[in-house]
Amino acid sequence: MTAPGTHDDSTTGAEGIAEVAVTLPVPGRYHYLVPSSLADRARVGARVLVKFGKQKVTGVVVPNTSKTPVGVKLVPLSDVLDVEPALSPELVDLCLWVADYYEAPPGEVMRAALPAGSGVGAKRVWSLTEAGERATSGGQGTALPPKQMVLLARLANAPMPAAGMSEAVRRNFVALKERGLVQEVEQRDAVRVRLKRERIVQMTEGVDLAKVRGQLSRAKKQLEALEALVEAGGMMSAAALNRLTPNVVPQLVKAGYVTVFEREMSLGAAPVADGMSVSVPPELTPEQVVAVDAITAAMKAETRKPFLLHGVTGSGKTEVYLRVIAETLAAGKRALVLVPEISLTPQLAARFRARFGDLVAILHSGLTEQARLGEWSRLHRGEATIVVGARSAVFAPMTNIGVIVVDEEHDGSFKQDEGVRYHGRDVALVRAQRAGAVCVLGSATPSLETYAHAQRGNYVHLKLTVRPTARPMPSVEIIDLRTHLPDGDAFLSSPLRNAIGETITAGDQVILFLNRRGFSTFVLCRGCGHAFRCPHCSVSLTYHRHTDRLSCHYCGYHQRIPDVCPSCGGKDTIVRKGLGTEKVTEAVAAEFPKARVARLDRDVASGAKIEAVLSRVGRREIDILVGTQMVTKGHDFPGVTLVGVLCADTGLNIPDFRASERTFQLLAQVAGRAGRGDKPGRVLVQTYRPTTPAVTCAAAHDYESFFNAESATREELLYPPHGRLIAVRIDGPDASEVASLAERLAQIAEAVAKRPENAGQVEIRGPVAAPLEKLRNRTRWQIWLRSSDRAALRRVARALTLVEVPSRMRVGLDVDPISAL
Ligand code: ADP
Ligand code: ZN
Repeated sequence: MTAPGTHDDSTTGAEGIAEVAVTLPVPGRYHYLVPSSLADRARVGARVLVKFGKQKVTGVVVPNTSKTPVGVKLVPLSDVLDVEPALSPELVDLCLWVADYYEAPPGEVMRAALPAGSGVGAKRVWSLTEAGERATSGGQGTALPPKQMVLLARLANAPMPAAGMSEAVRRNFVALKERGLVQEVEQRDAVRVRLKRERIVQMTEGVDLAKVRGQLSRAKKQLEALEALVEAGGMMSAAALNRLTPNVVPQLVKAGYVTVFEREMSLGAAPVADGMSVSVPPELTPEQVVAVDAITAAMKAETRKPFLLHGVTGSGKTEVYLRVIAETLAAGKRALVLVPEISLTPQLAARFRARFGDLVAILHSGLTEQARLGEWSRLHRGEATIVVGARSAVFAPMTNIGVIVVDEEHDGSFKQDEGVRYHGRDVALVRAQRAGAVCVLGSATPSLETYAHAQRGNYVHLKLTVRPTARPMPSVEIIDLRTHLPDGDAFLSSPLRNAIGETITAGDQVILFLNRRGFSTFVLCRGCGHAFRCPHCSVSLTYHRHTDRLSCHYCGYHQRIPDVCPSCGGKDTIVRKGLGTEKVTEAVAAEFPKARVARLDRDVASGAKIEAVLSRVGRREIDILVGTQMVTKGHDFPGVTLVGVLCADTGLNIPDFRASERTFQLLAQVAGRAGRGDKPGRVLVQTYRPTTPAVTCAAAHDYESFFNAESATREELLYPPHGRLIAVRIDGPDASEVASLAERLAQIAEAVAKRPENAGQVEIRGPVAAPLEKLRNRTRWQIWLRSSDRAALRRVARALTLVEVPSRMRVGLDVDPISAL
């Protein structure tokens, strides 16, 4: 394609043609001429600056595939931004696959593959021309107003961004430009970040702590510091050591016990050995041995199937990954590990760092832009050979990958829910296959799709059925809330209340799980029934006591509770109902006044704060932790012997075909938090639906039965894993306009589905308003396309992307959707 609105201004000296995927939400790739001056750098994967219509945008050079247009004049590339291509040919290929499979613009996918801040959207800067340089270096006296002299001098140091300067300054620049001294240019910003440096204290080789104890018997603080160092494996950041025992390092150096050196700090993770011991690999269980052997053997084999590592919670899956990765490194290859929302599982990242130290790069959305670029460049340069990261790390800049691990492969956070709607796990499978790497999908509760693949023999099924240290799986009791009435605020039935009491009396810890934030989940007028709903989204507002506000969990809108009902004018008629983590935490604290109670959910914690709460639990400074999904993730707290689920069915009423699967997974995961130490664990599940398979199978630790029941239900409806789905998501500011567009698209879909080549293979459901009909003032509708014939499904979906719609409305295809909301 030729770029729209471009015209030819200089084709002289041009040589060759490059195909470019521009980082804009436009389909296709565009052709540009490559001036000979840029020819050696305009390679596949290099970022370039191109004219696109009236704007200049960045893009990435892709392999020439489509036919070069004839009879049209092409515009030259404006610039090549990379010396070495930012994306390897392998990654460019992967991005093009993603664009094709998920029906997304290729440039948008590449943008997802490049770290934020890596030069998407170039900035305009003022810089010196050659004449300007001569003028500032004093070669030629120019009479200029003092202000302009100052500006010139500043440019001699560094170019200045053109945006955001005052009108007066800008006028001076324009005057300088007229004299030919300065120019306005696009700045190229290469991927280069300077990493912070940190000081590391290291035990001197040969120092024997037993002897030192004698020598330092009078110097308590120095001895303390040395003991901490030994505990940490002989190395620690000076900052961490200073926090433990201030001001002893100089004395230790003087005495020759330690040496201090400086090195680049890895930005993504906690500094190495910040009080964390270097882990010694345990001896593997027989099941682990089988798994490690099978995976490492596959690495050496010619053809390789993906593995499903299906291990109950706490069965040592992580240890299997660590061993396989060690083998991978020994074979001179690299490893990519995807984990869900890494900021929630700092322990997991820490375990990788403890085993492999600086070879590990950590990538996740909680990092600052600079930190992410830092980790990205360490991988790009090959300094880090293992990456542990969330979804987008599947695009990590690595070559020579031996193994790709997807931990908790069933987790919904691997699917991006807007923009390019890719699934990190599925892209991982494709990347592994193309790179000739082994792919390992690990889970205690595999997604139905993955398990079905394993059953059909597409994946190798490895099982870990027991916990390594002979800790039994926790016993799970179901408590029927219809007979054991829960009390008002804490929502505890008597069996659960008793169990909490026993547990804290024994000095052990409790986790209470409730899938709802806030204090009261709905607020209404008991006079007229008026419910408080978000004016921008179709959901009710949740009352938060801490802020004393009603707030919307989707868009962040908040308001006070009025004194009189806005509908009937009634006074004192407004009541708060339903429960949330905030209310439960308060009530539990009141019921168990001696216990230290803390809450963990999105309202109290993000990023580092989550880590802080979790490490307090780890240090046993918290007796009862109340929280949402955040408490269910892979934490390993030996002190937790009781897990209480306050209401297992909150998630079952969501109008989504995955509601049951998600509930089962959550229950199994949260139950797995209990009894990871020496004492056996106990789990109490309160529910109004004590016979539903999601609840009973989770309680019985019976994945197989759950799979069979759920798979049968889905088969009738042709839902995955039995059929394929594409959701067409339509949204816009005007409700009736969106509804009629949805209607029109559905008719087009019906017509295309009837064409002979599709032979009625595609079923069209809808159009329907989305369950969450209004979100941030946009009305949302959906059409669901279902088929077991992927090619036909794509043809119908593609036909819809060709329909012209006004720019205020959006039509997005969600291939393999995981949510119906
Ligand atoms: P999973 O990832 O399956 O939930 P983990 O890998 O976290 O399980 O293992 C649970 C616990 O068991 C961890 O504390 C881990 O250190 C320990 N562990 C794993 N493998 C072994 C083993 N072979 N011997 C002893 N302990 C082990
Ligand atoms: Zn809202």
